[in-house]
Amino acid sequence: MTDKTMAGKTSGKPEEEKKVQPQPPCFKCGSNRLFHIWTQADDHHVVRFKQYEHCDYLPEDMGIGGGSHSQFTYCGDCGQIQGKWPLVETQVEKEEKIERELHEQQQAKLEKAKATETAGDSRVH
Ligand SMILES: [Zn+2]
Repeated sequence: MTDKTMAGKTSGKPEEEKKVQPQPPCFKCGSNRLFHIWTQADDHHVVRFKQYEHCDYLPEDMGIGGGSHSQFTYCGDCGQIQGKWPLVETQVEKEEKIERELHEQQQAKLEKAKATETAGDSRVH
């Protein structure tokens, strides 16, 4: 009667294969008021970290999906986003660091140029 090779061809029962994994309650407060968000923005994701803005696909290492879409589940009672926290240092943080260091180097260069300019005032140009 129950021929596995014929699965899907049998009528009557709703598709049981499409079972959604039951969402465990909020790991922080135990609430069941959990909302799952799924958005697609392709390369239009903006992640702001301090003064830095990452505008591109979503990095995969932020715990909220990644690539063309973001997805996360949050608790309607305590606000906790479900997942594993804390994050290890993310791509965006590394990018911010590089950007900040570059900026600081540029600033230092400018300061140096300014200093030599003022120091060289007595010299004949
Ligand atoms: Zn909660």
